[in-house]
Amino acid sequence: MFGLMQDRPLLIQQLIEHAAQYHGDTEIVSRRVEGDIHRYTYRDARVRAKKVAEALVSLGIKTGDRIGTLAWNGYRHFELYFGISGIGAVCHTINPRLFPEQIVYIVNHAEDQLLFVDINLLPAVEKLLPEFKTVKHVVAMCDRAHLPKDLKIPNLLVYEELIADKPGTYEWPEFDERTASSLCYTSGTTGNPKGVLYSHRSTMLHAYGSALPDTLGLSARSVVLPVVPMFHVNAWGLPYSGPMVGAKLVFPGPHLDGKSVYELFETEKVTFTAGVPTVWLALLNHMQANKLKLSTLKYAVIGGSAAPPAMITTFAKEYGVEVLHAWGMSEMSPLGTVNHPKEKHLSLPEDELLALRLKQGRPPFGVDMKIVDDAGKALPHDGKAFGDLLVRGPWITRGYFKGEGGDPLKDGGWFPTGDVATIDPDGYMQITDRSKDVIKSGGEWISSIDLENAAMAHPAVAEAAVIGVAHPKWDERPLLIIHRKPGAEVTKDELVKFLSDKVAKWWLPDDVQFVDAIPHTATGKILKTRLREDFKNYKLPTA
Ligand code: ADP
Repeated sequence: MFGLMQDRPLLIQQLIEHAAQYHGDTEIVSRRVEGDIHRYTYRDARVRAKKVAEALVSLGIKTGDRIGTLAWNGYRHFELYFGISGIGAVCHTINPRLFPEQIVYIVNHAEDQLLFVDINLLPAVEKLLPEFKTVKHVVAMCDRAHLPKDLKIPNLLVYEELIADKPGTYEWPEFDERTASSLCYTSGTTGNPKGVLYSHRSTMLHAYGSALPDTLGLSARSVVLPVVPMFHVNAWGLPYSGPMVGAKLVFPGPHLDGKSVYELFETEKVTFTAGVPTVWLALLNHMQANKLKLSTLKYAVIGGSAAPPAMITTFAKEYGVEVLHAWGMSEMSPLGTVNHPKEKHLSLPEDELLALRLKQGRPPFGVDMKIVDDAGKALPHDGKAFGDLLVRGPWITRGYFKGEGGDPLKDGGWFPTGDVATIDPDGYMQITDRSKDVIKSGGEWISSIDLENAAMAHPAVAEAAVIGVAHPKWDERPLLIIHRKPGAEVTKDELVKFLSDKVAKWWLPDDVQFVDAIPHTATGKILKTRLREDFKNYKLPTA
């Protein structure tokens, strides 16, 4: 027997309708690529999102068509999220920091019909245009007055002109909630990028799950500034969960330096923000150098890479900001876990509470997790055993766009994250490594991340990376690669001594190499594939 409740599909366009109806006056503030600050409300955004939908229909865009965006966080990009998905087309956000050949690959693989591009990215698109096979129009995200001169882009359209004469009264269609809504390619640290294709249903369930109190805990009183870009897993879902609860949104545009972000925090009274560790480093440096304080910010979500301990304590002690350490991936929409202490943890000694906060956190309802050994056998949730982390749930992928890479699922429906982790009895998951980065020494696993974190605590170290290198007896042994702070001195022996009371003796690196810079991916993670390439012919002194 079925229940007798209404089967209304969960659709992304309902979010902007809800926000406009019940939070119509709530503001969306954007620092524009044009340089100024733009402000309007959810009510205004709804009309313009409908105009975008009408413009797309008039250009012949149909359900299922992919529409690319190369844009920073701003109100036009926000309108596209709803205008594109709301007609049943697919909003394909592209990371402009990718290598040009990756952008070409992604646009062609997705078969993007249109490309919406922020004005400062138009020159790069102009160069790549001859290689795009399916793009019919580029749309410059500006008005005529701000269009860069001398562009040679055939069939170029201008966003404000495209929507100017549209009525803005579009009736959003209702369709199956499993319809594809958006597409995001993983950064592809190995091989070609692969597309993760979200649906309306997965996006909406992810928005519900991420707004929960122990996840991101958003409300109509929140003022949310996503530093995490809208091309990085949909800004971790904030452009959806924000309107779901009626939060004020503040979009920082292309400038993510400490000064620009700090200014917006203060002028817009931001309470909640989210981003990767590198941007917070820049913000903290700026505030320290200029003796600034934060007057309204309460929560900073740190994810994408592990939150360094010093960052968590500095935010708390100097600025009164609670860091919410979070973990996820493109394949998970992205939220997997968020770290909120439970009541019993609040009375822990400071160092134990910090140790807890360094874990990646607990999953909200909707994410199932387990850890398994090499043979696929489930390991205990005792906080000690570590193994491959598998996940399942309604906002987790079951396969990549166009079947790339085959069926990724294991064990009857579990997605292998590629992370190695522990899970403790309270449900807190802690990443110990990426499966491909873990160092296999004499049949035992050494966590490259633990070693990096330990080395990062040395005052002379700007950044540390650890890779496994071949060893005749042990298979692999750790090599520590260090980028020193400007003017700072530290030797190999000093570093190994510094680590000796922080990690097991057999984990100590066999050698330390100093470099001028550590390479990063387009999303700010250490590019270990490059390091392994750079140190391909390197021989350990112990080998
Ligand atoms: P990529 O395409 O580089 O995989 P994602 O943004 O999907 O891009 O990255 C997901 C991966 O990032 C995770 O599998 C995990 O290894 C890493 N990651 C994300 N958040 C954290 C975190 N808080 N701590 C450690 N690693 C993290």
